[in-house]
Amino acid sequence: MKVQGTPKEWSVDRSKDYYYVPYWGGGYFNVNEKGHISIQPMGTVDGPSIDIMDVMEDLREKEIGLPCVLRFQDLLRARVIEINEAFNSAIQELDYKGGYRGVYPIKVNQMREVVEEILDAGAPYHYGLEAGSKAEILPVLAFNTDPEALTICNGYKDEEFLRLALLGRKIGRKVIVVIEKLSELPHILDLSEEMGVEPMIGIRARLSSKGAGKWLQSSGELAKFGLTVPEIIQAVEILKARGMERCAKLFHFHIGTQIPDILRVKGAVQEGARIYAKLHKMGLNIEYFDVGGGLGVDYDGSQTTFPSSMNYTMKQYASDVAYILQQICQSEKVPEPNIVSESGRAITAHHSVLVTNVFGSIQTGQIEGASATSFLDKLPAEEEVTQVREMRYILNSLTENNAIEWYHDALAKKEETLNAFNLGIVSLVDRAKVEGLFAELLKKLLPMMDQMKRKPEEAEEIKSFLCNQYMANFSLFQTAPDFWGCGQLFPIVPLHRLNEEPTVESTVVDITCDSDGKIDRFIDREDVKSRLLIHPLQPGEPYYVGMFLIGAYQDIMGDMHNCFGRVNEVHIFMDDEDPEDFYIEEIIRGDTAEMVLSRLQYSPSELVRMVKSSIDEKVREGVIRPKEGVQLIDSYEDSIRGYTYLNSYKG
Ligand code: PLP
Repeated sequence: MKVQGTPKEWSVDRSKDYYYVPYWGGGYFNVNEKGHISIQPMGTVDGPSIDIMDVMEDLREKEIGLPCVLRFQDLLRARVIEINEAFNSAIQELDYKGGYRGVYPIKVNQMREVVEEILDAGAPYHYGLEAGSKAEILPVLAFNTDPEALTICNGYKDEEFLRLALLGRKIGRKVIVVIEKLSELPHILDLSEEMGVEPMIGIRARLSSKGAGKWLQSSGELAKFGLTVPEIIQAVEILKARGMERCAKLFHFHIGTQIPDILRVKGAVQEGARIYAKLHKMGLNIEYFDVGGGLGVDYDGSQTTFPSSMNYTMKQYASDVAYILQQICQSEKVPEPNIVSESGRAITAHHSVLVTNVFGSIQTGQIEGASATSFLDKLPAEEEVTQVREMRYILNSLTENNAIEWYHDALAKKEETLNAFNLGIVSLVDRAKVEGLFAELLKKLLPMMDQMKRKPEEAEEIKSFLCNQYMANFSLFQTAPDFWGCGQLFPIVPLHRLNEEPTVESTVVDITCDSDGKIDRFIDREDVKSRLLIHPLQPGEPYYVGMFLIGAYQDIMGDMHNCFGRVNEVHIFMDDEDPEDFYIEEIIRGDTAEMVLSRLQYSPSELVRMVKSSIDEKVREGVIRPKEGVQLIDSYEDSIRGYTYLNSYKG
């Protein structure tokens, strides 16, 4: 659906405002004077800047198919430095007595290149890693070699997991096993005795304080993990009975990810700090106070307590944690412990962007290249049934005065036609006519309603019906499972033409054959938009869009719906010497059909053999010529070896 506008008035600044780029962009994303998205990987306006369309050009030259994830490795580094500096300056300003020892929970994005980059950037700060499962501790032990950095083991643990953690202690690492359920405590104590190594133990409390937003269930008394207060007391008794209270090194809680409201953070730190203080007084010499994850990302840029936003900054978060902890430690007269945070989302979300192409659009009631009326004229005009005649009358006699009444009549007529069609009274052609006339009516109605003094609520309904759907080459289930699974919003913005007015209100649909594979909720500073204004497609011209802030959780949770596999990936580094200010350091090719099918227990060579034998049979029968048969099997084999998404360069 096209929106009336005055193209001359449009500007890059209006695009920035409409898509909220500077707000959710956090200093890393903006729009340049060419109307292209630009990336400032260091988060500073006067720092180096990459024009995303230069990257798109490189992808095209290197024939890297879309969709493609762009990873800005310098941005990842900048986030690691930012969190460490935020805590360090809060500590300095408050003259807080402990230090900061952050850890990155690898579950948020386990890609080796992501983990390596984070560790490298965090090395001066002794930034560590968190593992939440047996499979995660394997790379964590191999990569986190700094004896000063923490390795924190969360999640339920079996004997094998505990032995791996103790192996870490044997090789001189600060591996802390967090007790999630009481039975893990005697188990770790027994194993450490057997392996002859002193464990480092953490106690996770199930706080009464709750998080907020979509992940509320991770906290509160009914949460899945952590010890209740009576269980914590029992844990102290177990440790004391075995003379091991010195091994309790860390106090931990996690009230959920993406906490939008700083008050929830403050409440949890307050409750946690009191428990820490009491445990200290009971003889546990706890050195680390671990506030878990939860530091949010402002996905919609609204700076509010909306679930996709947050009403605080990383700096405020660090200051509040340190301040509250200090206040309580001072009043309880216990030492100020080292602060640990397990922020994942806030570290990785910004660094990756999914870029893809829009390859077409569909509009209800619209036949590509023709108006609904011309299509109706071509249909056989024998004796029209009453429903068609009446709908034609409604359309032809529509005025501003009867608009709403006629709209309701038309809705009823459409419904009546459907019922009559189901009963076999109305033909398929007549049904097509009624629906075509109805669509024409809506198109006439909308500008009328827009002119009305009090806009009728029916206008929104009509807009949704007429709304365009832009078809984008990606799978929502692979790229942004949280959008589908828990209603999380991500900024979606055209990558170019931002100096032109976007005049088409549209939703975005993916290429999976699932009606859920559709984006019809877009960020908005006040609410959620159900449609986004996008530019009209120009024949023969590519149109690119990006989904931003997808670096946390999305990559690793994406599924293989419709056998669309992992997408291509390029790792981008800044380079001041380069005319484009960047270079592509690494290309990781996404899954081929062969890879995805093998994971599902199909043997690609067997598939080729089976299809070839059917083709051979048709060749023998003379239905297919031998040369054509060879071409068919070659193209089948090419597809097996090819990318699972639509070909973005050949159309
Ligand atoms: N720590 C624990 C125990 C978690 O369960 C999680 C994830 O929910 C995190 C840290 C990471 O949280 P976030 O990504 O919100 O920083």
